[in-house]
Amino acid sequence: MKRTEKVLLIYTGGTIGMGCNPITGALEPLDFDHLADNVPEFKLIPTAIDTYQFIPAIDSSNMSPEFWAQIVSIIVEKYDYYDGFVILHGTDTMSYTASALSFMLENLTKPVILTGSQLPIGQLRTDGKENLMTSLELAAAHHHDGTPMVPEVCIYFNGHLLRGNRSTKQNADELNAFDSFNFPHLCEAGVSFNFQTHHILKPDYTKPMVPHLEMNSNVFVFSLFPGAEENIVKHILDAPELRGIVMRTYGSGNAPHTPWLMKLLKEASQRGVVTVNVSQCISGQADMNRYDTGYQLKDAGVVSGYDTTVEAALTKLMLLQAQYDDPEMVRQYMNKSIAGEITIPATLL
Ligand code: ASP
Repeated sequence: MKRTEKVLLIYTGGTIGMGCNPITGALEPLDFDHLADNVPEFKLIPTAIDTYQFIPAIDSSNMSPEFWAQIVSIIVEKYDYYDGFVILHGTDTMSYTASALSFMLENLTKPVILTGSQLPIGQLRTDGKENLMTSLELAAAHHHDGTPMVPEVCIYFNGHLLRGNRSTKQNADELNAFDSFNFPHLCEAGVSFNFQTHHILKPDYTKPMVPHLEMNSNVFVFSLFPGAEENIVKHILDAPELRGIVMRTYGSGNAPHTPWLMKLLKEASQRGVVTVNVSQCISGQADMNRYDTGYQLKDAGVVSGYDTTVEAALTKLMLLQAQYDDPEMVRQYMNKSIAGEITIPATLL
């Protein structure tokens, strides 16, 4: 594979590049020059780095499908000129962006590594430098034949490289902010890199990367809880624009034996709303065959999300809803792995 020996660094914002507002004392995004001034080590990296910055830089709480499309467009435009891409991004919604990009960049053949930090890069104890430097190295890492070590959308944070659409922000305070509870890490970055090559996606290098820019965000995350009120749930499930629901159920995919809830779900399903069952547990999977409380959801037209994260299920629904008018097609693809985001039980393959 022909290499360019260059990596593109896309700076969207996030804590890594933030500084204190002199009046409020709260952290706010600053431009890329501020970040670069705090990283003289840039000059020591053997790979050439070009940068592209969002103006203005944003706190990732303000991330949106429009910004995802902007990132995809930048990657498409620059795809042939770089060996890989590093995206600096706030941690709050990084897993949503990583999941969305993994679906929007079909047949990706180059690394797209998202990273950021818990402490701004200007602070002495910052975790931002290591996260940034290692991400740049990972984006440039390649096999002898020139193909990249990690041709997929990943999050690198605190020594771990995770598949982006398997990741979740797990800690707001500690430096170990992310994990992928239902999938092994792709690489541990200790003294040296320990790639888990058998877990890394293998794209078809003979085929082009296919970008998707459209997302349909008429979707909703509905988390079950004891005592949910019919009237409130009805308002949401009856919304005429609603196309998809990620339903966070109990344990291995269970819901209460509540007739009004099953009726609402069934009616929504008959209207073409696709409801995906994802467990509220941080790890493990939804299995609607294990208990009767799960089985009844199958009857109500709910499809299993198995071990998918909420972030991945939601962004995958957004993409599929933009691609297909037929809800049956969306249901089918929700039960297929399109970017390594889901483990379908062997008995169903
Ligand atoms: N609020 C920040 C953001 O997501 C948090 C961070 O970057 O760690 O942009």
